[in-house]
Amino acid sequence: MTSIDVDWLDAWDVEDGSAQARALFTEVFDAAPDGVWSAPGRGNLIGEHTDYNGGLVLPFALPHRTYAAITRRADRTVRLVSAQEAGTVVTVDLDTVAPGTVTGWVAYVVGVAWALEQAGATLGGFDVAITSCVPYGAGLSSSAALEGSVAIGLDALFDLGHGADDAGRQHLVAACIRAENEIAGAPTGGMDQAAALRSQEGHALLLDCRSLEVRQIPFDLASDGLALLVVDTRAPHALVDGQYAARRDTCEAAAAVLGVETLREVTDLDAALATLTAPGALDASGQDPEMTARRVKHVVTEIARVGEVVSLLDSGRTSEVGAVLSAAHASLRDDYEVSCHELDVAVDAAVQAGALGGRMIGGGFGGSAIALVRVEDAEQVAGEIAAAFESEGLRAPGFLVAVAGGPAA
Ligand code: ADP
Ligand code: MG
Repeated sequence: MTSIDVDWLDAWDVEDGSAQARALFTEVFDAAPDGVWSAPGRGNLIGEHTDYNGGLVLPFALPHRTYAAITRRADRTVRLVSAQEAGTVVTVDLDTVAPGTVTGWVAYVVGVAWALEQAGATLGGFDVAITSCVPYGAGLSSSAALEGSVAIGLDALFDLGHGADDAGRQHLVAACIRAENEIAGAPTGGMDQAAALRSQEGHALLLDCRSLEVRQIPFDLASDGLALLVVDTRAPHALVDGQYAARRDTCEAAAAVLGVETLREVTDLDAALATLTAPGALDASGQDPEMTARRVKHVVTEIARVGEVVSLLDSGRTSEVGAVLSAAHASLRDDYEVSCHELDVAVDAAVQAGALGGRMIGGGFGGSAIALVRVEDAEQVAGEIAAAFESEGLRAPGFLVAVAGGPAA
């Protein structure tokens, strides 16, 4: 047994989070808000770097949520405050919002309003106070939680009517994606926003990123005596600029050479790898053939692993999911090359401490990892991971046990 302190990142009760957002709003804007809405951060069981390749992903909503207290205004002014951003009020004129005009956290919020208007809605200004227990910048999608809480809130306040069913929620997802890509300037693939808005409590969300169809997969590990441990490595995101864009470029170049729209369409991996490594095949794109082959191998095998995990969950063979997670980690580390020392330490220590398997999640180069553990081992595995970080001289990680929460509401 280890005696190291483990930092558990507990989720707030929805009532508590709502009360905190309401209190911040009232303190800053001197009136009660029209309402409080919230949306979850997410984990991703399997399917990493597959979303922008038209593939499959299997995220789930965390019980950790971002809360937005909002009031409509009669003009076109937006006033924003966030407890996580020094509590300073920022004012933006909605009519000045366009790609490149807003920077920082505010872009995620006004970007959603902008995108909803671009899609035909007529909104007005609003005052909004934000608070959150989603770990910040930890690869657990605090950005989509923020967008989702604002989207569902504006939808209700301006009577847009999209929040009522899944088809409408797809419209909100699209607005959140545009906000993040075009106004916040972060080229993310769409999984996070779908998880924030289209998940269901107690389920993982099987999302087909080509058709945008979803299937709710019952995801109750506790009934099988299992738990999913999430480790926020708190690794500094150093030297990652451009890595995500570089991966996307490589995938697009490979798809072009293979004559497919996305790597989702690759049905014969060996044939695809032979085509990509044939002399001259990638010359025009400037991509290295051997590297491109490894990237494609990750994407194609990862999409297959999503299918594998879904059938394991469907057939109640939940403990076998662990081995698939570990295979995914090896693929992300060796073929896609998006892991980092902290993520590898977390996964290796988890498995050594008795986890059934584990992997990095999210874009990589930092952020979080997951480990599938027996419920009774969760504390011990967390302690061993924390001890491994300490002996490597790394910052102490944070931990949570993921239970699939509900969507934006
Ligand atoms: P992740 O989504 O993995 O947490 P990102 O870099 O995509 O990391 O998003 C983090 C950014 O989202 C923050 O730097 C901030 O700009 C914005 N953000 C997220 N949550 C909040 C919040 N509660 N208040 C203000 N800004 C937030
Ligand atoms: Mg994000």
